[in-house]
Amino acid sequence: GSTIGILGGGQLGRMMAAAAAQLGYRCHIYAPEADSVAAELSAAFTCAAYDDLTALEAFAKSCDIVTYEFENVPAQPLKKIIGKAALRPGVAPLEISQDRVAEKNFAESHGGKAAAFMPVKNFNQLADAIDKIGTPAIAKTIRMGYDGKGQARLRKGSNLEHIWHDLGRQPIVVEALVEFDAEFSVILVRGADGEIRFWDSARNSHEGGILAQSTVPAGPMVESQVAKARILASKIAEALDYVGVMTCEFFASSAGPIFNEMAPRVHNTGHWTIEGATTSQFENHIRAICGLPLGDTSSTAERVEMHNLIGTKIPDIAKLLSDDEAHVHLYGKGQAKPGRKMGHVTRLYR
Ligand code: ATP
Ligand code: MG
Ligand code: MG
Repeated sequence: GSTIGILGGGQLGRMMAAAAAQLGYRCHIYAPEADSVAAELSAAFTCAAYDDLTALEAFAKSCDIVTYEFENVPAQPLKKIIGKAALRPGVAPLEISQDRVAEKNFAESHGGKAAAFMPVKNFNQLADAIDKIGTPAIAKTIRMGYDGKGQARLRKGSNLEHIWHDLGRQPIVVEALVEFDAEFSVILVRGADGEIRFWDSARNSHEGGILAQSTVPAGPMVESQVAKARILASKIAEALDYVGVMTCEFFASSAGPIFNEMAPRVHNTGHWTIEGATTSQFENHIRAICGLPLGDTSSTAERVEMHNLIGTKIPDIAKLLSDDEAHVHLYGKGQAKPGRKMGHVTRLYR
């Protein structure tokens, strides 16, 4: 069989590797962290920095297809390995999604609507940006944020020096705080032949900037906005000649769907598809990058709920398992830390 290389060593890579194994592929993980939970389930592991060109080149040569489970893999070194293995999706989706300003501009250039925003390159521009956007607002580092890290809320009278310092004195974007009715995600898979399929959109709730729960169906407010959001997501995927699973996050607001961000990968808000859809996001990602026909994305239950198991307050696993409709996933991470995603539980309601 062929070898699939996965850049990134976390739980998304682990679940991708499990899906790949089912289809007879072996996986080779490339990640800088020694304790990769994806490497545990894979045939080979290169533990090296993402910009180690020698290691990256040897990795690419050992693989037929390379994909990623982490959007902050540096794009520049990856360009060097193109030609050694097929990179799916490509480098462009990484470059865009690594930069919040580029990402919003890209979505808007394809007809999407983002919250009002202003890039701030240095401290002197911050007060002016807040004046233009108004308060309440939210400041985010342009690069590297995830799980709500690298963000600060801006109110009237916020101490701007403190905020600039806390965000690491780096370029940020100031965004209007959207008064949303719900958050939802559009997850699509695009095959090597250009076919696009969507899963049902989940309604997502966050606690402290971290996804806590995804529920399908998402309810009438979201459902009335999904069609428009899907059009934008397809346009983005087509413009990038995207192959694989791609996610766009939206706020459902009285002004319609507001684009928040995109992830060029499988997504936490799609974990429910493992048991709640005929074909999971992980399996369809593997099918797409391997040039296989895509699987049916329909939901298999009337209602599905996915809860993340976060940090140190993990419930009693034996108790969770005693529920016949609950599916428990533990990522095999040694140390529970506040805010760390340790696993998830999906419950089907038929
Ligand atoms: P992820 O882990 O999804 O990549 P992230 O760190 O990249 O998260 P965002 O998705 O931009 O950050 O923001 C995290 C959460 O903060 C959002 O899901 C939403 O709940 C809230 N949020 C972010 N931006 C806004 C906004 N402009 N208006 C209102 N709420 C917002
Ligand atoms: Mg993000
Ligand atoms: Mg997000």
